[in-house]
Amino acid sequence: MSPKCAKCLGGTNVKDKDSVLRCSRCDIVVHVKCISTSDSLLDALKNCSGLKWFSDSCVKLPFNLDSLSKSVDASRQDILDKIDSNKNEMITRLEKLDEVNTQVRSEIVSLKMLITSNENKLVDIDRTDTSIRHDIKSLKQEMSTTFASIVSKEVKKNTEIINNEVRTVQKVLTEVNEMKNRESNLMVFRLVESDNDRTDVMKILQHLVEDISEKDVLRTTRLADKFAGVGLCDDLTKEQRQEYKTFVEKAKSMQSDDKENFFYTVSEDQLEDGR
Ligand SMILES: [Zn+2]
Ligand SMILES: [Zn+2]
Repeated sequence: MSPKCAKCLGGTNVKDKDSVLRCSRCDIVVHVKCISTSDSLLDALKNCSGLKWFSDSCVKLPFNLDSLSKSVDASRQDILDKIDSNKNEMITRLEKLDEVNTQVRSEIVSLKMLITSNENKLVDIDRTDTSIRHDIKSLKQEMSTTFASIVSKEVKKNTEIINNEVRTVQKVLTEVNEMKNRESNLMVFRLVESDNDRTDVMKILQHLVEDISEKDVLRTTRLADKFAGVGLCDDLTKEQRQEYKTFVEKAKSMQSDDKENFFYTVSEDQLEDGR
């Protein structure tokens, strides 16, 4: 069955190559008389195997390919744009993720620092505890030392008081002993110096006391030379002399104040009684 002419849709005889042309691409056939072409072109087509005839629609095909290519290019660009857009969004998201990550890392670092700080505080508390224990120990030692020191000072103070009292008693004893030693002594004042002091003294004593003998006077000693006059007095201790001097001063004072011609003097009784 022969195909119909694409132009007039009439029947064709494909074996008659002078009256019919076949499209080398889509195989449609047309009557030569139905298309506008020249005899020379028809001759060329008939004689040259390298020449091919294409229907109008197939001739336009390269343009379609071009538009298809353009469309593909556009689509590709669109896809690339979308990828690019997605890429940007992904990058943005990745950046955000990175930001969050950095923040999380920073928070972790803060937490670590906080933990370290707390650990340090614990160490500090431990140190303070140790320090307080040490202080308490020192205080205990100091208190015991202070107590011992106070006791020692008190003992020393009491010892000093006792020592002072002993010294006072010793002084009184020495004073009493001295008084006792001097009790039998007799002082002779202003006795003119000679080779026979003892004879002179005996003469004075015999003049004063009737029954005195040589054996009553154990010995005579000259304390100082060339006195202006001679006088007698009890042998007094330094304290007794001081006391006597005070009484004499008092008597002199009373004498000078007296208006009734009384005579004031110091008797031995006064001295002994301390009046
Ligand atoms: Zn036709
Ligand atoms: Zn064709």
